[in-house]
Amino acid sequence: MTVPVFPAASLADAHGRRFEYLRLSLTDVCNFRCTYCLPEGYRKIAGMPSDLSVAEIRRLVAGFARLGLWKVRLTGGEPSLRRELLEIAEAVAAVPGIRRLAMTTNGYRLAERAGDYASAGIAALNVSVDSLDPARFRTITGHDRLDEVLDGVGAARAAGIGTVKLNSVLMRGINDDELGGFMAFVNRHDLTLRFIEVMRTNDNAAFFDRHHMPGSEIASRLETLGWRRLQRAAGAGPAIEYEHPAGRGRIGIIAPYAKDFCTTCNRLRVSSRGKLHLCLFGDHGIDLRDLLQSDDQIDALIARITALTATKAPAHRLHSGNSGATPHLASIGG
Ligand code: SAM
Ligand code: SF4
Repeated sequence: MTVPVFPAASLADAHGRRFEYLRLSLTDVCNFRCTYCLPEGYRKIAGMPSDLSVAEIRRLVAGFARLGLWKVRLTGGEPSLRRELLEIAEAVAAVPGIRRLAMTTNGYRLAERAGDYASAGIAALNVSVDSLDPARFRTITGHDRLDEVLDGVGAARAAGIGTVKLNSVLMRGINDDELGGFMAFVNRHDLTLRFIEVMRTNDNAAFFDRHHMPGSEIASRLETLGWRRLQRAAGAGPAIEYEHPAGRGRIGIIAPYAKDFCTTCNRLRVSSRGKLHLCLFGDHGIDLRDLLQSDDQIDALIARITALTATKAPAHRLHSGNSGATPHLASIGG
């Protein structure tokens, strides 16, 4: 039997960036109504094609893995709403060359399902928790589920999911007074929490104008309080992480509006219907689905992914108020 050899990340663009990481959306559907994302809740758009099947997803990931991509994050919409989630996770984790399977979730039913996620091969979870105040959590998400989500975080760790992090979208006038509470929480539970700057999308422009707060403000506050910035590891994600000499947890900041944010980009995205998005804020996705219909198409798939990736733009255009064709992040997978 020939043992397949997988290249070190060979997928690259014209700006010298290499791509090792795929964010794969499993569905646009979400049950939450986060004020910055889907404030009116998910609305079905008539005439849209179905989500990729398990077989299509397996072929897609096999194509990327042949190009040296080794990490996949399942996202959405809300990935836990996808009926075949466990089957998909098992299929992706089993693709030769895939070494890490992660998922980003709003924590829906996490407490009861964490063990199944771990068994299916999900080794890392990011759970969105925008406030530690139950009433505020309800106002932001439309759901009175803070305790349930935090129970899910505990269950995920107990189930042996090695990396469990919290994501918190930073919003001026909404949760920017919670830094102290978040700091105490991460220290108490030895957790990493990342603040994400709210990003402008086509649907949330007015919200963005009212509530955007640069990550640099949180960074200054952390530094004043004795938190120390950690060295960025090679190949690390976009978060700048801090720890405190007297504490156990970590706080990260993801600041897409910071200078040079895009220079270290190492990720590509595929929507739930099989469109490749070279950037979260690009003009459109490019269809890969016609090349996911049989295992024999893998060479053509690899050729298309390689050619398209080479054309990735150097940076997003958010600074000029241009969010590309992205109505909200649930449509591509955040
Ligand atoms: N539903 C899952 C969740 O909320 O974790 C996964 C999908 S969600 C689109 C992925 C991440 O994007 C979440 O952490 C969410 O808070 C973040 N997000 C969504 N819209 C955003 C925006 N406009 N700016 C910054 N982060 C956003
Ligand atoms: Fe749903 Fe996640 Fe968007 Fe909130 S951020 S509405 S949980 S997709």
